[in-house]
Amino acid sequence: MKKKLVMIGNGMAGVSFVEQLLKLNPNRYEIVIIGSEPHPNYNRIMLSSVLAGDASMKDIILNDWNWYRDNGIQLLTGQEAVSVDAEERTVTTNAGVTLAYDELVFATGSVPFMLPLPGADKEGVIAFRDIKDCETMMETSKNYRKAIVIGGGLLGLEAARGLINLNMEVAVVHINKNLMNLQLDETASRMLKAELESQGMRFLMEHKSARITGKERVTGLTFEDGTHEAADLIVMAVGIRPNARLAKESGLEVNRGIVVDDHLQASIPNIHAVGECAEHRGLTYGLVAPLYEQGAVLAKKLAGVDSGGYHGTVLSTKLKVSGVNVFSAGRYTDEPGTKALRVQDDLDGVYKKVVFENGKIIGTVLFGDTSDSSRLFSLIRSGQDFTGKEKEVLFGPSGGGGSKTLSMEDLVTAMSGDEIVCGCNGVTKDTLVEAITEKGCVSLGELKACTKASAGCGGCKPLVEAILTTTLGADQVTKVKEGICGCTTMSRDEVVNAIQQMRLTTTKEVMHVLEWHNPEGCSKCRPALNYYLGMAFPEEHGDEPESRFVNERNHANIQKDGTFSVVPRIYGGVTTPEDLKRIAIVAEKYQVPLVKFTGGQRIDLLGVKKEDLPGMWKDLDMPSGYAYGKSLRTVKTCVGNTFCRFGTQDAIKMGIDLEKKFERLDTPHKVKLAVSGCPRNCAEATIKDLGVVAIDGGWELYMAGNGGTRVRAADLLVKVKTEEEVLEWTGAYLQYYRETANYLERTSEWAVRVGLDTVKKALEKKEDRDALNARIDKTLDLMQDPWKQIIENDDLRVAFDALTAKGAVNPEAAAANESK
Ligand SMILES: Cc1cc2nc3c(=O)[nH]c(=O)nc-3n(C[C@H](O)[C@H](O)[C@H](O)COP(=O)(O)OP(=O)(O)OC[C@H]3O[C@@H](n4cnc5c(N)ncnc54)[C@H](O)[C@@H]3O)c2cc1C
Ligand code: SF4
Repeated sequence: MKKKLVMIGNGMAGVSFVEQLLKLNPNRYEIVIIGSEPHPNYNRIMLSSVLAGDASMKDIILNDWNWYRDNGIQLLTGQEAVSVDAEERTVTTNAGVTLAYDELVFATGSVPFMLPLPGADKEGVIAFRDIKDCETMMETSKNYRKAIVIGGGLLGLEAARGLINLNMEVAVVHINKNLMNLQLDETASRMLKAELESQGMRFLMEHKSARITGKERVTGLTFEDGTHEAADLIVMAVGIRPNARLAKESGLEVNRGIVVDDHLQASIPNIHAVGECAEHRGLTYGLVAPLYEQGAVLAKKLAGVDSGGYHGTVLSTKLKVSGVNVFSAGRYTDEPGTKALRVQDDLDGVYKKVVFENGKIIGTVLFGDTSDSSRLFSLIRSGQDFTGKEKEVLFGPSGGGGSKTLSMEDLVTAMSGDEIVCGCNGVTKDTLVEAITEKGCVSLGELKACTKASAGCGGCKPLVEAILTTTLGADQVTKVKEGICGCTTMSRDEVVNAIQQMRLTTTKEVMHVLEWHNPEGCSKCRPALNYYLGMAFPEEHGDEPESRFVNERNHANIQKDGTFSVVPRIYGGVTTPEDLKRIAIVAEKYQVPLVKFTGGQRIDLLGVKKEDLPGMWKDLDMPSGYAYGKSLRTVKTCVGNTFCRFGTQDAIKMGIDLEKKFERLDTPHKVKLAVSGCPRNCAEATIKDLGVVAIDGGWELYMAGNGGTRVRAADLLVKVKTEEEVLEWTGAYLQYYRETANYLERTSEWAVRVGLDTVKKALEKKEDRDALNARIDKTLDLMQDPWKQIIENDDLRVAFDALTAKGAVNPEAAAANESK
């Protein structure tokens, strides 16, 4: 007869343990699982992706209802185990069901720690732990605007990013002076903060919360220093506590968590604990990798298979925020007896720190470039001695890069079969090798679909690829092109071709016809599709504001304090006393805290409240400067021959003509132009997307320059004689960029990718330039000033009313990865 196994908790650790037990000994137990949440087992880690709009609830189910049925498991969902009689060996649920057991497993996870602040029980104060919390945030964002996240750790930042994507204004309150202070050192924290600020996140660092205000519903948070921040929603992400209350009441030994030995045995015979609720050698864990390792050990024990026991886990963390690469593992702080190797590149925003103790790597922090994460993490776990050759870990034997001390392939060979490769989904090397050798997986995509490896945070992708190559041989691996996002395997060109050939005109239609895996799309594909559709069919495609980035939806740039910046169009950087007077009056009327000249010769009114935007635009009576858009930003000019004695051409007129012609154009990324009146180049035209430099008897046009993070000097595109030719070449060049670049690709990246000669060749024939210009003119004819449209349209203006977040925005479709 089968023995009875009852498990309390239907979460990631517990179900992973059951999966492994079934593999080892499928017939030994009659299994009953009690789960208080009304769902089958889902990937809690991916809640951040759901909130950010990158995955749907459906995507995160790990074991569907059929899995329980097919494996003969009785699942009691929506029921809570409320008492355990260890002598009688029974468990009773709140529904009055009593179950007898031979073996009992506690897999009750953790409960979020809620700060015991006065007012913490008000409506709108929640944690971020389960599907219910996620749904509450999504619902709240439909009717409210301001959110506070208390806690600047991994969970808090992921919650904040998700809420921004839901079009909420978010302030992150953190008690420490460094973000993610449990995972990052000061330098990485500083870089992370700067990056997140540029994405619209606002921080109140070293703030101690004192009181939550409001009657029934929260209205704000008051700090110990007396300052106050308004809020319609407060998310507490300040830590977790092992859920061990029932265990304690049942007579088990409990410290912080349920005390277990190396075989996950609790203090009473036949009772075990696994996951976040367990305390092993004085430690409790809050990440999944150790929980899967624990599950594997417990499965062996209950299946009657020998195991070496569980000996603790080296932890690693990866932040799941689009556009931010952060990784940390092991002991990364400087302590007596440790030495650190550091590489810091502020230009590219890259920071790497590797900490050694007695020649062995004990920890690492990576920011900006995390491509070394799998390799370094494996080296930490392998305990390899690098005495005397520490620098090779980052720079290779020659000190100048090249092959590092241990290649990924060496690491794969050295790994044991039961070592976990994908921490998020608990996938071991053996599982991957089996999928390759026995199930015929020959590509990363197939491995991902078959095993779920790399489907979580994606940090293990390089290691999974290395296992594939090592097992199969590089020549047998099918290189599957990456889709434009996780919703499709289709490349940008395939998607655009399909749009054109099938005459698709809405994002919904594209997703449906091209069989998107996620029918709602994600924050990567929605804005990209909206752009491609507008580029392909400017007349037929109606712009979809809900698919645009938050700044583009608001037609203003959100600042780190949650206010906005307003930049009116000033053609060629040339203004008039009347315009200046009007700007000054508006700045005074709306009490603009800062008026600043920008690098592109415009005037920036900073610190504007969202509800003041339409009124301000009306009073300014100037077109939008599109300082927030993937569009033509500015045409910078020097004074040219109008005033300068060196000038050979009228740079001001040329600049104004260019700006008037191409303003409002939707482009894959922002586009900056400049015109200099002579080769002295005072307008810095040779670091612009398109630069025009006057020479004797004509103009030189330069392409694909960039003055941003990755500085790139522009390349000469062509020399022309007349102003008309400048406009003609510019139009053709911009349209060719619009038609062939990936969404969010600057001209400097695009031209290098497709080849500078390809661009030149595409534009060299007059008839090709004419055709490109005909297409761009068609688009330009349709463009209207968005500020004017909002001023004149009551329905559009509603989205800017104070305390009304309803209207033009569909939060489900909010866009992540806001790029400056
Ligand atoms: C938003 C978010 C993002 C995260 N991101 C990461 C990440 O990037 N990387 C990482 O490694 N980890 C991450 N984590 C942590 C990870 O999800 C947890 O470590 C993991 O889910 C813990 O698994 P568990 O089975 O121990 O607990 P849980 O998954 O919490 O499962 C416990 C289950 O037991 C149920 N239960 C409790 N008491 C009872 C009872 N008396 N009766 C019946 N049922 C009961 C609970 O309702 C729950 O469903 C994240 C967590 C969250 C919330
Ligand atoms: S670029 Fe030439 S024309 Fe323009 S301001 Fe400088 S020196 Fe004068």
